[in-house]
Amino acid sequence: MRLVAYKQKNTLGPYRMGVVHHENVLDLQEAYRLYLLKRDQVDLANAIEHVLPSDLTSFFKLGEQSIQHAQVALNFSEEHDVSAISFLFHNVTLAPPVPNGAKVICIGTNYKNHVAEMKANIPEYPVLFSKFSNALIGANDDIQKSPYTEKLDYEGEFTVVIGKEASHVKKENALDYIAGYTIGNDISARDLQKRTPQWLQGKSLDKSTPIGPWIVTAEELTDPSNVQIETYVNGEKRQSSNTKHLIFNIPTLIEFISSLITLQPGDVILTGTPDGVGFAMDPPQFLKAGDTIRIEVAGVGVLENKVVDMETPDQ
Ligand code: MG
Repeated sequence: MRLVAYKQKNTLGPYRMGVVHHENVLDLQEAYRLYLLKRDQVDLANAIEHVLPSDLTSFFKLGEQSIQHAQVALNFSEEHDVSAISFLFHNVTLAPPVPNGAKVICIGTNYKNHVAEMKANIPEYPVLFSKFSNALIGANDDIQKSPYTEKLDYEGEFTVVIGKEASHVKKENALDYIAGYTIGNDISARDLQKRTPQWLQGKSLDKSTPIGPWIVTAEELTDPSNVQIETYVNGEKRQSSNTKHLIFNIPTLIEFISSLITLQPGDVILTGTPDGVGFAMDPPQFLKAGDTIRIEVAGVGVLENKVVDMETPDQ
């Protein structure tokens, strides 16, 4: 199942949870409401906002229940006419599938070859940093290049979405806490990132970080330890690796993080980028307006965004 946060183009109102259905986006709440009405469960259908919420935050708060109902809604849609609540992709825009207030936890220096190209050391513990929600954009959005950086760079990353509250989880059970997987582009302003010991200012610029296009639910991608990831800039292949090369693999990351920080449904973990970033090229290559970055993750999909110059009030 591929879950999206969508809204119809040129409409007001919040993004709603949807599911990809025959190359369309199907409204999940409406599909589940039709399913309930078909079964004469009118009371539940009238209380649909509590049964299968349409907004991301409430949807993820219900964790596994939401995912299970989403699967029922999708199955129902295979056998019934849902054309009235189904929208062509080119008629919708997608938000990052990350609820408000979710933690965006990023892992630094987590592929050996990337550690080497950055002239860093293999870390003894996972390197954690974070981004704020101001940084996140969806699959259809442009990456805003701040006028305060001259060294904007891409980082294609396999991204984990948490499905239920996780505290002190053991590695052996870690995959049970994952709702699914998506793609993140950990856009990094190298000059801002490196001018102080903390990376945050170079990592959380407004509207810089695409996540999406959707969440592939965990039952579809059962082995996150062997997933190919590739990044292209203007069609040129820059990164090509596999999650089998992660220094700290996904179960280890969930065990480590959840021993310190309780993870909630909807929280995301960007698991680190492989080698091939622009900063490490000879000579270094940085992003400019008009560039397109395309990240392909096997079994998940493609995330492609264009870079534009940010307009600021003093320009
Ligand atoms: Mg990164």
